[in-house]
Amino acid sequence: MKLLLIEDDSELVGQLRPLLREAGYAVEWADNGLDGGFLAGEEDFDGIVLDLGLPRKSGLELLRELREAGKRTPVLILTARDSWQERVDGLKAGADDYLGKPFHAEELLARLEAVLRRHHGQSGNRLRYRGVELDLDRQRAVDATGREVRLTAIEFRLLRYLMLHPGRVFSKTVLSEHIYEEERLADSNVIEVYINRLRKYFGKDFIRTRRGQGYCLERSDD
Ligand code: CA
Repeated sequence: MKLLLIEDDSELVGQLRPLLREAGYAVEWADNGLDGGFLAGEEDFDGIVLDLGLPRKSGLELLRELREAGKRTPVLILTARDSWQERVDGLKAGADDYLGKPFHAEELLARLEAVLRRHHGQSGNRLRYRGVELDLDRQRAVDATGREVRLTAIEFRLLRYLMLHPGRVFSKTVLSEHIYEEERLADSNVIEVYINRLRKYFGKDFIRTRRGQGYCLERSDD
């Protein structure tokens, strides 16, 4: 999952980035509303964490423009703790949830995960597909026979992304973009290696190859 963090408090970003990475997100950062708005419009992020008080363009303005442009990316706004007006304005402008500053990083992670799950029509912290269950908190999977599979960070990111989008076909390049951060983008052939590892854990038909298009989890049966 690729996240865009739009926040001008670099100290806060310094604290959040490693935690978000640990939770399996690839994080891009913008420290002002203008750059943030540009990135949000140009790239296909899975979620946006948006501070409302930003230099160059306010978070609220950015959010309104994003929604007017038809972008449905889930957005979690960061507001001043005691400003109910900011929260109301943010929700009306199209935010999916809010968090008042200062906050505990754990609450941010939990809210973010809930927002992303709702966006994908999922409830609970486990994803299921063909007997395979993925625990999003513990970053572990259980295969169809009930055996626990410990996943590496990249395996987890890849599996989560595919399980959140059953029925959709993704090219190696697109998968790579949602799993790695820009400066660390892997050769797309590396994706093939990870796909094969997941097949080894969960069976070779678990992930289908569509010739010339990419990979998908088929939606048809369960
Ligand atoms: Ca700020």
